[in-house]
Amino acid sequence: MEFTGSGNPLATSSSFINTTCPECGAPAHRETDTMDTFVDSSWYFFKYCSPFSEQVPFDKEPVSYWMPVDQYIGGIEHAILHLLYARFFTKALRDIGLSKIDEPFSRLLCQGMVNKEAPYCELCNRFLPPDDYEGSSCSVCGNEYKLKSAKMSKSLGNVIDPRILMDNYGADTSRFFILFGSNPERELEWSNAGIESVYKSLEKSFHLLIEMPGSVKDTIDARDNYINFITHKSIRDATHNFEELKLKDAITHIMILIDELSTYSKTHVNKDIYNEARMTATVLLSPVIPHLCEEVWELTGHDDFIISARWPICDETVVNEMNEFKWNLLSDLSDDIREIIKVARITSPKRIRIYSAAGWKFRLAALFKQEFAKTKDRGQIMKTLMSTDLKRYGKQVNQILGKYLNDPALAPYVDMGLDGEFSFLNEAALILESGFNCAIEFYKEDDSHEKKAAGALPGRPAIIIDL
Ligand SMILES: [Zn+2]
Ligand SMILES: [Zn+2]
Repeated sequence: MEFTGSGNPLATSSSFINTTCPECGAPAHRETDTMDTFVDSSWYFFKYCSPFSEQVPFDKEPVSYWMPVDQYIGGIEHAILHLLYARFFTKALRDIGLSKIDEPFSRLLCQGMVNKEAPYCELCNRFLPPDDYEGSSCSVCGNEYKLKSAKMSKSLGNVIDPRILMDNYGADTSRFFILFGSNPERELEWSNAGIESVYKSLEKSFHLLIEMPGSVKDTIDARDNYINFITHKSIRDATHNFEELKLKDAITHIMILIDELSTYSKTHVNKDIYNEARMTATVLLSPVIPHLCEEVWELTGHDDFIISARWPICDETVVNEMNEFKWNLLSDLSDDIREIIKVARITSPKRIRIYSAAGWKFRLAALFKQEFAKTKDRGQIMKTLMSTDLKRYGKQVNQILGKYLNDPALAPYVDMGLDGEFSFLNEAALILESGFNCAIEFYKEDDSHEKKAAGALPGRPAIIIDL
């Protein structure tokens, strides 16, 4: 047998090839294709770590440095056979002392299928390949077919040719559509309208990212702080999602930043905060739409490649519990106002009045949180509350306690205090004003005789809309 490094060595051995048939004794040939394809695929990842070793299959040192594989990505068809053989080889190599690796792969991701609508005949109870329908009817039974989602396959003819996508929309749009359509392990429903709308929205984002708004300033108000918060929150959330390969979720967080940036760009923006926000969005998006982001990077004055740019880091003094609580409070408040406007069918509100809860309610909420951590017993908590100066408000305390026990999330997880909440809302007024296009006024329940104001809770101000 000759081992030349090319071709099958068995095929060079006539003593192996030539034999006699065990049944009839006539001359016969032996099969030379005896090496299963799984033999190589079961240990190639060891060889990849040590490609230059010629005397041995692989060297121990680079293998123990690189292995195990951090992330295995494969279709579900690999889930049993390849993983089984690869693990067997890995353990056998360990047992004969060639490596110390026990498991070949640390993490597994099985990507989902891509589906697209295809003609389906309910009478024939099957999908119709291109030859089996004409116009809108099944050519087997004549019945009108329906469109139903099916795994993309050549036989059904519901495959999208990637080349056509590249020609019409480019690689970035196609990739964005696929990654944003669903997380990798889920199925993806293909839609031509979907890719068209991705194309348009990326075009809009591109212009947003390359152009600086006309009206810039150096001072900082609540709106600038808000964008800065969203910028750093999206760094935190998108990075976390990218690391977990939740790519759709990562993109969702980045697109929230881009949406907010678009609203922000129509106001008087802080130059540095705006710049940081748009450059952050660009770097975060660059793994998804690299070509477009390189273009933005160059057009915004960078002379290196975005691929070598530093990945942004979330500033934890910006995204902390208190700030998250504050901005959530504001966004819940906006949602509540919007809901009232919708339900009451208000076309253009003249004025919106917002009432922060009485000071004692803040003390109640803080004390409730503290006691609730110790006991869920209503009587016990009430007893503690009544042993303080809250006793004066006994009946109301009992009512609020009932609400908090019914839904503990109602009690704010951060204690801003009445003054903290009131001054935050006053600062944030300009965000609400531009959102609702009317005057926004802030009051304290303590100073008011409005009946509705009595419904205010800490973190949940009461709202009155004047027509
Ligand atoms: Zn024979
Ligand atoms: Zn039919």
